Amino acid sequence: MSIGVEPSTSTGLVDSFGRVHSDLRISLTDRCSLRCTYCMPEQGNVWLSRSSILSAAEIAHVARVAADLGVTSFRLTGGEPLLRVDLAEIVAQVAGLRSGGSPVEVTLTTNGIGLAERIDELVAAGLSRVNISIDTVRADRFLELTKRDRLADVLAGIEAAAGSPLRPLKLNAVAMRGVNDDELVDLVDLALAHDAEMRFIEQMPLDAGHVWDRSTMLTRDEILTVLGERWSLTPVPGRGDAPAERFELDAGPSTVGVIASVTAPFCGACNRLRLTADGQLRSCLFATDELDLRGALRTESLTDLDRDHEIADVLRRSVGAKKAGHAIGDPLFLQPVRGMNAIGG
Ligand code: SAM
Ligand code: SF4
Repeated sequence: MSIGVEPSTSTGLVDSFGRVHSDLRISLTDRCSLRCTYCMPEQGNVWLSRSSILSAAEIAHVARVAADLGVTSFRLTGGEPLLRVDLAEIVAQVAGLRSGGSPVEVTLTTNGIGLAERIDELVAAGLSRVNISIDTVRADRFLELTKRDRLADVLAGIEAAAGSPLRPLKLNAVAMRGVNDDELVDLVDLALAHDAEMRFIEQMPLDAGHVWDRSTMLTRDEILTVLGERWSLTPVPGRGDAPAERFELDAGPSTVGVIASVTAPFCGACNRLRLTADGQLRSCLFATDELDLRGALRTESLTDLDRDHEIADVLRRSVGAKKAGHAIGDPLFLQPVRGMNAIGG
């Protein structure tokens, strides 16, 4: 039910460059069952305090106001969202929302560990789709890359997703020179065997350890060259505001995607906002500032109406201040203080 914010496209989340924001990525936790080297350090992590983490009801509250302002798609991420015991409840609450008269879409980005045991309850709760991250199909390499011996659990998650009604199913891999660049074809084959689309992501400077180095990043062009040696690649038209460029493999119907955030940024079509697990709103992965929503959610003196207006105001201010792009190539580029696990990928 909508309370305080008038559903309106004219007052929707449009930034000063005319970009309409219809996608909210919600990080449910900064904690994780893995320690992917490009995302978070193995040790020495300083976790968000439990009391600062938004509850299911608080997340649903922000989502409701966002839906009233034109957000139609909600992606639950983290950290690892499957670590939240109330994940199905969050999915159910958000999936029950409508935006512009239509049901919203709720999707999940996960490392897949534990997905097999919970997929039925997530589907029943109204989950629309799932993206599963897998960077390698070799157990020894998986251990080296994630510091955990859990490849079998990830594969079980992919198997379960493939057997579920959640479609399209997407698998994500960060492509890294000297780490998994010899596995691009194997990863696509894994996806094809599970009726899924493999998507390769250029590594971004978002590791909590701040050790990103451009030279270890495999570029879009390099990825396409490797894939092009095995398949003919035909660009799929109509990318819209999607981060991934998609290509048909051998004239389709199977496809592969490349997310070239660094060498071919897609900021001009960005429609995304991000909510951290502790209730801070970010207009960009690379934003160095955040606006607080937790205060509005927890100030007891606010009426329901004032609270909705305050949340809407923060959403609008964040969008209003959004910059044109991330400027990773700029010599003055500053990596955000939070790592990817704490921002929400
Ligand atoms: N734990 C879940 C997972 O791994 O899918 C959700 C959170 S994770 C931060 C979301 C996505 O961000 C994953 O696909 C991961 O590979 C990607 N990611 C993390 N750090 C990255 C980086 N430095 N550059 C590019 N992608 C990154
Ligand atoms: Fe965890 Fe996902 Fe980050 Fe890997 S990429 S450490 S699975 S949050």
